[in-house]
Amino acid sequence: MGLTGIQIFKLLPKTNCGECGVPTCLAFAMNLASGKAELDTCPYVSDEAREKLAEASAPPIRPVAIGAGVRALKVGGETVMFRHEKTFYNPTAFAAEVASDIKTDTLERKLREWNALQYERVGLNLRPEMVAVRDVNGKGSTFAATAKKIAEESEFNLILMSEDANVIKAVVDACGFKKPLLYAATPENAQEMGNLAKENGFPLAIKANGMEELVALSDKLTSMGLKDLLLDPGSREPKQVLEDQVIIRRAALKAGNRSLGFPTIAFPCEMAGNLDVETIIAAMLISKYTGIVVLSDFKGESLFPLLLERLNLFTDPQRPMTVTQGIYEIGSPNEHSPVLVTTNFSLTYFIVSGEIEGSRVPSWLLIMDTEGLSVMTAWAAGKFAGDAVGSFVKKCGIADKVKHKKIIIPGYAASISGDMEEELPEWEVMIGPRDASLIPKFLRDMAA
Ligand code: SF4
Repeated sequence: MGLTGIQIFKLLPKTNCGECGVPTCLAFAMNLASGKAELDTCPYVSDEAREKLAEASAPPIRPVAIGAGVRALKVGGETVMFRHEKTFYNPTAFAAEVASDIKTDTLERKLREWNALQYERVGLNLRPEMVAVRDVNGKGSTFAATAKKIAEESEFNLILMSEDANVIKAVVDACGFKKPLLYAATPENAQEMGNLAKENGFPLAIKANGMEELVALSDKLTSMGLKDLLLDPGSREPKQVLEDQVIIRRAALKAGNRSLGFPTIAFPCEMAGNLDVETIIAAMLISKYTGIVVLSDFKGESLFPLLLERLNLFTDPQRPMTVTQGIYEIGSPNEHSPVLVTTNFSLTYFIVSGEIEGSRVPSWLLIMDTEGLSVMTAWAAGKFAGDAVGSFVKKCGIADKVKHKKIIIPGYAASISGDMEEELPEWEVMIGPRDASLIPKFLRDMAA
């Protein structure tokens, strides 16, 4: 269990210097206790106090980093049951399974196909992260060859699945640089697998037969000094899996149960006979707290909706997605190119910039900070008012980049044109279309 605010306060320097952003050490202690502050914000905590406070400031579910390279990931680290309470931090990772004896050409084809499954949305690249290699014949050499090929020839990170520590040992040298997740420690092999994970600094998943065994194994491994653990209570029936995920999350967050304070891993590939049903189960597991879901395959038609669900769920509901205020070049605009202005809600930016790009009329797009609100909402909230937009246009520096003085505003904000013209007396304010899909025609007509 974490320390109370008063217990934390006793360990702080009590100088009330305010460098942590709040006026007193007591206020900082209270924030730390409720998870609203980070210990590192105070530069004056002694090493001894830091050690004691680490427990209090640690998230109730440990964040576990897995893998290396562009698809490295972090799971766990969550602090709430429901997204509307705060936010979810580390998205569920997706893995697809291959057998250790998979033929080389089949593996190469799968990696090629899986690598192509990448989607651009609101400026983000959505893609799966992992491949799980399952030992099917106990042969370390075959297992190592398959894992090595994936590690060296793809961006995917690895889950090494074998309950035989000797098989896993055979692979450590070949793909240790990818910091793979080892699956799994069981009551029979916990000591050996724990040692292997500890020596190499790999995260380790526990596979148990029920919750009691899971807690016992977690305690055993943490007493060996292992910190980066994932939990699999062993259930494979969807209803039970769902219950287990909720129990683990509640135990960690509500009861402060440190034995269960780790992210989880689940296997839809072992719960269904086809990818469609696996996908439905995976969709449930994303929304109910699973750290990693392992599927039998990645196919665009099932992966894409899962990636979108994940994106929606792991987006902070209290902070609209934004782009940075500034001048954006679409195409290669010059001093005669049109100038448009809109808000910094990222969906607005990506829709508008996409339409401008589609028009093939190189343009300057001015993005004004409206705290992530869309055009109509920003206008209604007074954050996209004529004088403010005019002042932004003046200060942003666009006048140095173009020879004309024409600016296009969104059709939905037509009413701000008068105030804008007062703020920008030398400029002609043009009303653009209401619907972004009409931007290409608007720009082409203008260019003509
Ligand atoms: Fe106290 Fe540290 Fe904050 Fe200063 S920075 S007020 S010492 S907690």
